[in-house]
Amino acid sequence: MKLLRYGPKGKEKPGLLDSEGRIRDLSGLIDDVTGEAVSPKSLARIRKAKPESLPLVRGKPRIGACIANPQKFIAIGLNYSDHAAESGLQVPPEPVVFTKQVSCLSGPFDDVTIPPKSKKSDWEVELGVIIGTKAKNIAKRDALKHVAGYCTINDLSEREFQAERAGQWTKGKSYDTFGPVGPWLVTADEVADPQKLGMWLDLNGKRVQNGSTATMVFGVAHIVAYLSQFFTLLPGDIITTGTPPGVGMGMKPQRFLKPGDVMRLGIDGLGEQEQRVVRDK
Ligand code: ZN
Repeated sequence: MKLLRYGPKGKEKPGLLDSEGRIRDLSGLIDDVTGEAVSPKSLARIRKAKPESLPLVRGKPRIGACIANPQKFIAIGLNYSDHAAESGLQVPPEPVVFTKQVSCLSGPFDDVTIPPKSKKSDWEVELGVIIGTKAKNIAKRDALKHVAGYCTINDLSEREFQAERAGQWTKGKSYDTFGPVGPWLVTADEVADPQKLGMWLDLNGKRVQNGSTATMVFGVAHIVAYLSQFFTLLPGDIITTGTPPGVGMGMKPQRFLKPGDVMRLGIDGLGEQEQRVVRDK
């Protein structure tokens, strides 16, 4: 299933994409696409409803982030060996973990707002993982059972704030709109192998990132089990799993986002996003 949220920001309703790509209203079954709504029990209940029996949503509503009110938005850094190389950094011996503040969550087609004086805002197409059941100290072999689904994420990053302002990466990863998530939460049963997904990002119509989750250093199962040693993952939590090469920081000369730029990005089977860049005042 492809679950989504549609409507004005802050007033999104839950929806389901039917086999013809139309949105069906899920508000009769769930209040919103929350952690609770993506539990195995709730997903089984949604699965039983015939999409054609659900109300059809007309028009072209805005699409919101595909999960509502996650408690955590965790990110993995330098998780593709070729991206680590373009960043001039070694592949880390253990996953690099940082936090994106949940206030950065944004719809997949919403404008991306860069900070007033930002000179180094950058893009990163990434595979997103949405947790479906509580995971604490779990084994790698059990990890994928805790995943409700997958989605496309753009892990927007202000490189100066991230790397030149001391302290933790979260400062460069969390500006409002720096976390477009969606358009859909694709349930795990529809993703045969999360380590075989092509992914790409176009800047102003030119392909700049072209990779595959096959070249991740630490795969999804490893990451979920690994994180669960340090803190409990809860239903609805988002993990964004790192980016392949082709970010602006790695270009020669470096190329960062400017107002008017358009990013289009996608992952096989998980849908596409498009954002226009504007500058915050
Ligand atoms: Zn990233």
